[in-house]
Amino acid sequence: MASIFSRIIAGEIPCYKVAEDDKNFAFLDINPVAPGHVLVVPKKEVDYIYDLDEDDYVSLELFAAKVARAIVKAIPCKRVGSATIGLEVPHAHIHLIPINKESDMNFFSEKAKLSEAEMQHIADSIAEQIQ
Ligand code: AMP
Repeated sequence: MASIFSRIIAGEIPCYKVAEDDKNFAFLDINPVAPGHVLVVPKKEVDYIYDLDEDDYVSLELFAAKVARAIVKAIPCKRVGSATIGLEVPHAHIHLIPINKESDMNFFSEKAKLSEAEMQHIADSIAEQIQ
């Protein structure tokens, strides 16, 4: 069965899309550690990120860097932290999280509660900064 992220990429499940290219897709995490928390995923469904072939892995990282540069412009923060965990959803993904200090990269902290309108505004603001 297709992963939830493959179903998002196919448009079967809604998401707050930020960007896509021929190989990769970026959208807001539905349960954000911080406003502007983005997931970057390869369109090819591979469970573990380090099982991606070299070309796809490099493509994913370069795409993630482009999205991270857009997040910094759209969301007030010092930097964007990145993390690969992948224990919950078996489809490789990189978490991009706006941070001001190390402890902001905390997946156990209380999640940001944002309305649909706020999520859409954040996604649109980041999308506008993609170059
Ligand atoms: P992990 O696999 O441990 O890296 O975590 C998976 C992440 O995917 C979590 O941060 C979830 O909040 C996020 N997530 C799960 N389902 C969705 C969805 N439908 N849309 C956006 N994010 C999701």
